[in-house]
Amino acid sequence: MPQIPHPNDTRTLPRPYHWSDDAACAGAETAAFFPVGKGGVPASVLAGDAKEICVHCPVRSECLGHALTFREDYGVWGGLDEDERAELLRQARRAAEKQRRKEREQQQKEKADATTAA
Ligand code: SF4
Repeated sequence: MPQIPHPNDTRTLPRPYHWSDDAACAGAETAAFFPVGKGGVPASVLAGDAKEICVHCPVRSECLGHALTFREDYGVWGGLDEDERAELLRQARRAAEKQRRKEREQQQKEKADATTAA
């Protein structure tokens, strides 16, 4: 006999969409996404199975964005392991620093040009 949900039961309320609703890894073995290196095999190599699932995931960019935003330190997120995400963050920091340096140099040049013209 089907249960009739109580109107105040919050579990029956519709919930907003979340990208993880479409995750290709839903139902997959969690351990595959959080491999621990063993027997001399690094975790990054053992992460291959998880990465294969991520390749076909429709929410890969959202997942990676989450991991980068919230600094997920462990596991495979958005198809990248922790070392790959750390490298991505280093590259982004270097690019941002380069951009700031370029803007400072431009401002100094404009200031020097304005001083010379006056
Ligand atoms: S990108 Fe990978 S870890 Fe992220 S939701 Fe998709 S399958 Fe899961």
